[in-house]
Amino acid sequence: MALTGVEIFKLLPKTNCKKCGHPTCLAFAMKLAQRQATLDSCPDVSDEAKKILGEASAPPVRPITLGSGDKAVKMGEETVLFRHEKKFVNPCVFAVEIKDTLSVEEIAKTAGEVVGSEIDRVGQKLRVDAIALTNASGDAAKFEAAAKVVAAEAPGVPVILCTENPQAAEAAVKLFTGNKPVLYGANASNAEAMANIAKANKATLGVFAAGLDELSTLTEKVKSLGVEDMVIDSGARKAKDIIENNTLIRRAAIKKNFKPLGFPVISFMQREDSLHEALLGVVGIAKYSSIVVMSSIEKWKNLALFTLRQNVYTDPQVPMQVEQKIYSIGEATQESPLFITTNFSLTYFIVSGEIENSKVASRLAVMDSEGLSVLTAWAAGKFTASKIAQFITESGIEKEMAQKEIIIPGYVAILSGSIEDKLPGWKITVGPREANAIPAFLKSRSA
Ligand code: SF4
Repeated sequence: MALTGVEIFKLLPKTNCKKCGHPTCLAFAMKLAQRQATLDSCPDVSDEAKKILGEASAPPVRPITLGSGDKAVKMGEETVLFRHEKKFVNPCVFAVEIKDTLSVEEIAKTAGEVVGSEIDRVGQKLRVDAIALTNASGDAAKFEAAAKVVAAEAPGVPVILCTENPQAAEAAVKLFTGNKPVLYGANASNAEAMANIAKANKATLGVFAAGLDELSTLTEKVKSLGVEDMVIDSGARKAKDIIENNTLIRRAAIKKNFKPLGFPVISFMQREDSLHEALLGVVGIAKYSSIVVMSSIEKWKNLALFTLRQNVYTDPQVPMQVEQKIYSIGEATQESPLFITTNFSLTYFIVSGEIENSKVASRLAVMDSEGLSVLTAWAAGKFTASKIAQFITESGIEKEMAQKEIIIPGYVAILSGSIEDKLPGWKITVGPREANAIPAFLKSRSA
């Protein structure tokens, strides 16, 4: 059970020294209880208290890293049930299954597709994060051979090795030691052997049981064998069961601090029907799966799931923003037009995309509006004539322009007069209301 603020307070030094940045030990204790502070902020806490509080203040869903280096992905560490309460911390991992029954060429082709799956969306790199190699053949030698192809064709890509055969597990996992793989396939009958292999190779152990009772018993057993890092599978495969079991697991971890289920969840979504599979992927993303295993890489499916994942895991309290500056789009010259907009990511990418489509080299002044879109920023007093004038003046952009002209978004046409007043010598032109009208607008200017 999580400790209350008062229980935590009893374990603190009670000197109210403020070194933790809080006015009193009680205030700090309350923040710790709400998981809004970490124990290391108090330098004077005793070792005994550290031991008790360290356990109690650990994230209810254990943080696990899959892979190493720049392709490593973090999972778990979640602290809330609902995104509007705070935010979801670590986006779920997308993995694509490769069966060891495929030919070397087919394995290499899919591994290569995973490597090349990255896309850029509103300034973030999104990709299929991992390969789930499954021992569909049941043969240890085949599994090892397939693992060698994956290691060669997708170096550095995190892997999930799926087998219930300890011999196959041992042969394959050795190829990825140091790359923090997941070794999935521990169950009630092979737990000891699999735990030893995971420990020896510093792998996270994927634990499977049919149902939550068996699963929590098994994770306790695995923990007693010396394995702390686990991902868990309750056996849910239908949408209804995935929602139900994942919700119960998350609720037990967050609300009850029930450690046997406080691990990232792995969900297997592979289906013959791609649309069905994509819908199950949606369920996993929305309802607490930390790893979603799919059967194939199809661009339409990736794009839909990437977008959903990005939306679910964006902090609702912090709009996505781009840096305030003047961006050149194309080879901007002294004659190039200058647009201005706000720094909400989506606004920036849509406007810059339409300017690019127009094939007219331009400049785009992106003003810090705390990530708000044009109309919202204007209504909130963050995209005003004074602020625009200050930004343009301080940028010094006029030195690079033959004609001092700025094109403002059509939705804030009302600002044109006051910007003119604040920016003497500048011509203020009202641009289109919608970004998709920019190419026609630029064409009409050059006609
Ligand atoms: Fe209390 Fe520790 Fe904070 Fe000092 S640093 S006020 S002792 S909790």
